[in-house]
Amino acid sequence: MRFASLGSGSRGNSLVVQQHHTTVLIDCGFSIKEVKRRLANLSLDVDAISAIVVTHEHTDHISGVGALARKYQVPVYSTVGTCMASAWGEIPSEIHVTPDQPLAIGDLELRPFPVPHDARQPCQYVVSDGDRRLGILTDTGSITPHITAQLTQCDAMVLECNHDLELLRDSDYPEHLKQRIASYYGHLSNQQAADMIRRIDVSRLKHLIAAHLSEKNNTPVLARQNLCEALSCSSDWIGIIDQQQGLNWREI
Ligand SMILES: [Zn+2]
Ligand SMILES: [Zn+2]
Repeated sequence: MRFASLGSGSRGNSLVVQQHHTTVLIDCGFSIKEVKRRLANLSLDVDAISAIVVTHEHTDHISGVGALARKYQVPVYSTVGTCMASAWGEIPSEIHVTPDQPLAIGDLELRPFPVPHDARQPCQYVVSDGDRRLGILTDTGSITPHITAQLTQCDAMVLECNHDLELLRDSDYPEHLKQRIASYYGHLSNQQAADMIRRIDVSRLKHLIAAHLSEKNNTPVLARQNLCEALSCSSDWIGIIDQQQGLNWREI
């Protein structure tokens, strides 16, 4: 199994997970043109996409979903709540997922789990090939015991490091936006992400990738610093998904 990213941040998110002939996009917050360009950087063609799995209805996760699904006849998986709240129009094949019930897409098994975020029915995922486990956690305001139970003993993890608490506090964002981001249903700070790493079994972890970094309220250096302290590893071991460059393939 391998994974890569087309980009992550408030201007668009999309993660690619591949096993044999199954290629799944987790979210698609880019236009078709951008998706094609970014897939080409990973030596992938858009025809290779088997399915799009949508975590929640925020624009940075769904802006390309409807157009891509219609043009290339790609099935879309999401919770009923996400589907109802998403204005993506008519889609050839919509499949509803139930939180905490595993589903199979080709050679991949996905386990959706609920997260506290200000969307209708948001879920994040553990993706597995039956052996290795990739944990994905972005767009959550807090870490629940249920989340840590899902993400323990992963072989790779994509983890939100949205903001640094001090940079957010001192930023020129309006007060209500600062409060929304830092709330129970907002986004994960570097410090919260590091706390979670300390709480789970990381003995199998081969890749830790920071994602959904705020361009104003965080820096790759700060995200790495918090995560490497929690893991007791060197900071260059921590990967970062860049909004523009994405992340090149990582083999699990
Ligand atoms: Zn987001
Ligand atoms: Zn969101």
